Amino acid sequence: MIVEMRKGAAPDEVDGVVQRAKSLGFNVQLNLGSEKTVVAILGSNTGQLSTDIFAVLPGVETVARIMKPYKLASREFKAQDTRVQVQGLEIGGNRVLVMAGPCAVESKEQLMEAAWAVKEAGASILRGGAFKPRTSPFSFQGLGREGLELLAQAREEVGLPIITEVMDTQEVSLVAEYADILQIGARNMQNFSLLNAVGKTRRPAMLKRGLSSTVTEWLTAADYLLSQGNNQVFLCERGIRTFEDTVRFSFDVGSIPVVRRNSHLPIAADPSHAAGHYALVPAIAKAAVAAGADALIIEVHPNPKVALSDGLQSLTPSDFTRLMKDLRAVAESVGRHI
Ligand code: PEP
Ligand code: MN
Repeated sequence: MIVEMRKGAAPDEVDGVVQRAKSLGFNVQLNLGSEKTVVAILGSNTGQLSTDIFAVLPGVETVARIMKPYKLASREFKAQDTRVQVQGLEIGGNRVLVMAGPCAVESKEQLMEAAWAVKEAGASILRGGAFKPRTSPFSFQGLGREGLELLAQAREEVGLPIITEVMDTQEVSLVAEYADILQIGARNMQNFSLLNAVGKTRRPAMLKRGLSSTVTEWLTAADYLLSQGNNQVFLCERGIRTFEDTVRFSFDVGSIPVVRRNSHLPIAADPSHAAGHYALVPAIAKAAVAAGADALIIEVHPNPKVALSDGLQSLTPSDFTRLMKDLRAVAESVGRHI
């Protein structure tokens, strides 16, 4: 249930609503907008609650139920776009941010070469996996802590913030020590303990869409992060499993406008894991920007032929440089810039 306070409602009026909700055993979350405050009343049986309980309180403008399964991620709770702040950069503003780098951190040389190359081409955040969710236990699993160390060195030397995946609740504090953005992978979209743990860090977090998840399930999963008080959350469309087998996953370009319409959270796109093949990445990346993506995350490897993971879908630095040029034109055509 959403309680919208009047413009300029006094803090003790807001508190009156909060205390009333708490006394009835509900949780609350506040959206302190510049114009007015919105109080979300959260709990499993708000459906049985009469809206009048809050409508009569001083300072209350309107009381409405959120009919969607997701609450805090919805535009009903927060109408204005969220902007995620990462080391002076903003995800969700007019600029489309590009995150790029190798699928996995493999060595210092590989990471530095990739980092300098993507920076030169205009990327503003470096990606690289230290903990890798591989389909087979016999595939390269990532360098773990050593990979995080190398990412921190790359940030220091090259000057790009870093995004890296956290796979397990036990690693959240370790990864949070290093990463500027915590990535929650597709396979963990509904790992609710992980979502709660990442939510508690209140650090920027990117929630990838589960490979068989609906947009509604994805936004409802985002509520876990938000419910822990983390408002630095953005989403990432990375393709879903369909009957189609000529691409690795079917990139759901429609999810971008759907998310923008129904949620205040910024949305990124990962054309690499959707495509599964380097030749298909540029077209999907451009489509995503045209559709309104706020950021891209793209795999780039200095020598994809010898990559320890996802070489086939990784762009070479020169292909990435060309793509960046095209992306600038697409962004401009939709009133944005890279
Ligand atoms: C990744 O970004 O490296 C990754 C494993 O992606 P996803 O979780 O989307 O499969
Ligand atoms: Mn990958």
